Amino acid sequence: MSEQLEQFYEHTRLLADLGRAQEVLDWDREVMMPAGGAQQRALELAALATVAHERLTSPTLAALLDGLEQRAEELSAAALADLRETRRGHDRAVKVPSKLVAEHARVCALAQGQWQAARQDDDFARFAPHLERVLEVTRQVASAIGGDGDLYDVLLEDHEPGMTRAALEPLFDELEAGLRPLLERVLAADPAADAVLRRPYPEELQEQFARSVAADMGFDFAGGRLDRSAHPFTMGTGGDVRITTRYQEDFLPSSLFGLIHEAGHALYQQGLDPERFRDPAGGYCSLGVHESQSRLWENMIGRSRPFWTHRLPRLRELFPDQLDGVTLDAFVAAINRVEPSLIRVEADEVTYNLHIVLRYRMETALLTGDLPVAELPGAWADGMERLLGVRPANDREGCLQDIHWAAGAVAYFPTYTLGNLLAAQLMEAAREDLPDLDARVEAGELQPLRRWLQDKVHRPGRLMLAPELIPHVTGAPLSVAPFLRYLDHKF
Ligand code: ZN
Repeated sequence: MSEQLEQFYEHTRLLADLGRAQEVLDWDREVMMPAGGAQQRALELAALATVAHERLTSPTLAALLDGLEQRAEELSAAALADLRETRRGHDRAVKVPSKLVAEHARVCALAQGQWQAARQDDDFARFAPHLERVLEVTRQVASAIGGDGDLYDVLLEDHEPGMTRAALEPLFDELEAGLRPLLERVLAADPAADAVLRRPYPEELQEQFARSVAADMGFDFAGGRLDRSAHPFTMGTGGDVRITTRYQEDFLPSSLFGLIHEAGHALYQQGLDPERFRDPAGGYCSLGVHESQSRLWENMIGRSRPFWTHRLPRLRELFPDQLDGVTLDAFVAAINRVEPSLIRVEADEVTYNLHIVLRYRMETALLTGDLPVAELPGAWADGMERLLGVRPANDREGCLQDIHWAAGAVAYFPTYTLGNLLAAQLMEAAREDLPDLDARVEAGELQPLRRWLQDKVHRPGRLMLAPELIPHVTGAPLSVAPFLRYLDHKF
């Protein structure tokens, strides 16, 4: 390896280590830290962020990037991908003046506090000026990076490199057109009862079952942990990957599918190439690809009949009274109940993406200014009625339900839908390679699928961006058809 390349990796691997340290401090804040630590922790995290920002924007790194880019033809595919990722991060960090970075952080921190209070009191007017300010600063950041280009595309690049609004738009249109008749058809059938899931399920026993499912999926507890937090999440890479969940004693699916979801994310992090995870392109491909892993395990496996053929008897051993007389068919129907609702995070597989279609349309219009902030509540309610046939009675159940915009995460919502679509497309490809997949899952064997995903999706990390990785693995660019086929077959 040339001296320049060695210096490049020394520089970027230290950046990766700083990022890991930030993650551990974040995890500690959410899971362990006493409330009194909040102020100190904010300072510690700010210190790490400052050092990381200095290192990412440093003239030393700029010179290394320039030098190595001149000698691109001598470099391996992995080194080129590492260069590409570092170039993107460096350019974005250099283009946004530090004053604007600080202002963005300040405005978002303030907005999150006000959002929380506004949601609690169902008081949109209180949040409106803060959302206005977040959008304004977000536009400034995006123009600093992208100049005259499409601002939404610039923001999207942070979460889903290579994806554009022009590519998203037809996916959302096609999805809406396919989902609405499907929803009507499903609703016309008798909706399944889910009372069986709402009986008291003691937390310790839920946790015992959750741990056994995670272990069967291949989650490595020697290199991972399962803890509790208010909002479930996954953090870490390599030999230290942690997931959290929350238990709801009178609603089994909350922790169960929440955990399978996070364990799906965790398998991705544990499945990255151990030789490469400190390198710029050694991490996950994109948020959409990450979400495909969690949704594939949560829905396509976790809510499937073959999965419960094996596992319902085990669940019944833990909860004999709660599941007394509940057949496999009744249980599978209960966990797949479809019902249009107002809250995205509680939505079923059929309606979930319609919640995202609405958010995508709202945020693109808010960003361009076509939708004034003051008109958001009405536009939201109208959109819900048109897409899902339900209308929120207040803004708490409407446009105040998600934290994303308050936190400055604009152009983030589409990654959820991209994940759902990709999960279905990956499952079709996996079935071709593993024709006996259902029989294996029915026998409790989840490792063939896990190894397939590791080989095709986890190991490559970010060597290829999603628009290249997806056809490479599935033989076709991302499309809506596999997801609609999957739902059509299931319902
Ligand atoms: Zn997720």
